Amino acid sequence: MSVVTAAADRSVCDPLPVLGRDVLVPLVTGGEAVYAALDYAASAPALQRVWDDVAGYAPYYGSVHRGAGYLSQLSTDLFENARRTVADFLGCRIEGGPGEARSDKGGGGRREGDQVVFTRSTTDSLNLLAATLPQGTRVFVFETEHHASLLPWERRADLAVTYLNAPRTPRQAVDTLEKALAAREPYGPALVCVTGASNVTGELWPVRELAAAAHAHGARIVLDAAQLAPHHPVDIAELDVDWVAFSGHKLYAPFGSGVLAGRADWLQEAEPYLAGGGASRKVARRADGGVDVDWHTTAARHEAGSPNVIGAYAIASACRALTEAGFDGLVAREQELIARVQTGLADVPEVRILSLFGDDAPRVGVISFVVEGWNSSHFAAALSAEYGIGVRDGLFCAHPLVRTLLGSEPQEPGECGAPDAADAAEAAPGERSLNAIRV
Ligand code: PLP
Repeated sequence: MSVVTAAADRSVCDPLPVLGRDVLVPLVTGGEAVYAALDYAASAPALQRVWDDVAGYAPYYGSVHRGAGYLSQLSTDLFENARRTVADFLGCRIEGGPGEARSDKGGGGRREGDQVVFTRSTTDSLNLLAATLPQGTRVFVFETEHHASLLPWERRADLAVTYLNAPRTPRQAVDTLEKALAAREPYGPALVCVTGASNVTGELWPVRELAAAAHAHGARIVLDAAQLAPHHPVDIAELDVDWVAFSGHKLYAPFGSGVLAGRADWLQEAEPYLAGGGASRKVARRADGGVDVDWHTTAARHEAGSPNVIGAYAIASACRALTEAGFDGLVAREQELIARVQTGLADVPEVRILSLFGDDAPRVGVISFVVEGWNSSHFAAALSAEYGIGVRDGLFCAHPLVRTLLGSEPQEPGECGAPDAADAAEAAPGERSLNAIRV
């Protein structure tokens, strides 16, 4: 069947992960090698080069920003170099020392200096940004977002969140945003949150145009680049976005590290995301018995505790690998693979590829589809059991979007995270959902 042989390997550079047989099982199907793990949109295996770089760091292992010894200083340098590498990767310019980058471009007035904050993931980065928004910020977000960019804003009661309906063309996305922004003027601080490439359809969103619309109305914009950054250059100044968030484990680095990069002002003015050592410059007892804290105003303000040095080092290694491989070649190769999958899927009349903007819309190598007459979880299970091909089925942590794409209400919530007991009880065999399959 075409879907089996049209296996798209989204990996770049050295695609072979070292995660072992359970994750990547090469099979031979009709003379063609098919790799079992196609769902790199969820997590892409770390590049061998990244593992090697991380192993190369081992001799220099030492505390960061906390020691006078040689190893500690070396480790600190390597950590801050990793930050600079990420800043370069994202088009930031480092100026003011650790954690600071500068750019004169960008909307909403002159930039005071970009910062690169190391986080745990995109989810963590966006929650961090949500925690640091000025009181009463208006947030505009499309209902099509991944839950990581849809939900963090709801957690603060003082933020006014406007959910925008799913657009059916990139132009409509810009128009929808412009109308929503115009309808709510005048207002104080405002933020638009948008995903650069959908984790469900792979479609590219008109980031530059959305940024221009946001800035024209005095709003700022954060780009969820979790799916975009592994596939396309993401340049903060060129896209003219205020912040970018992405995850290491989708960028061919291991789990556990992420980045929030962008304008420093709101980050510096907000309370630290976590309170503790590393974020505090000076702590002193007050006469009344309490404590006064002078918090850092660099990225360290939001990096309390001992940092994930290995994670930062690995992300920087992946950034270097992608830069050296060259996005032009990677994009060209990826487009060939996408075309191959699309052609293969088109051979199967029962298959419907999901898209918001139309089948020809520019996209990265993420494709979701339904197979008419098949329950998607059964289909995905069969792909795994019979052909050794690992795909993901469900609603991909973007429930409102997948509902819109399916044009119907799925019969079960769809997986996103470890199922709890209630999910397990609901998921009776034979009652599994109409949801989608993603490669
Ligand atoms: N945003 C998008 C578009 C994603 O695809 C994902 C993960 O699938 C996330 C955010 C969340 O990333 P993480 O799970 O690394 O926090």
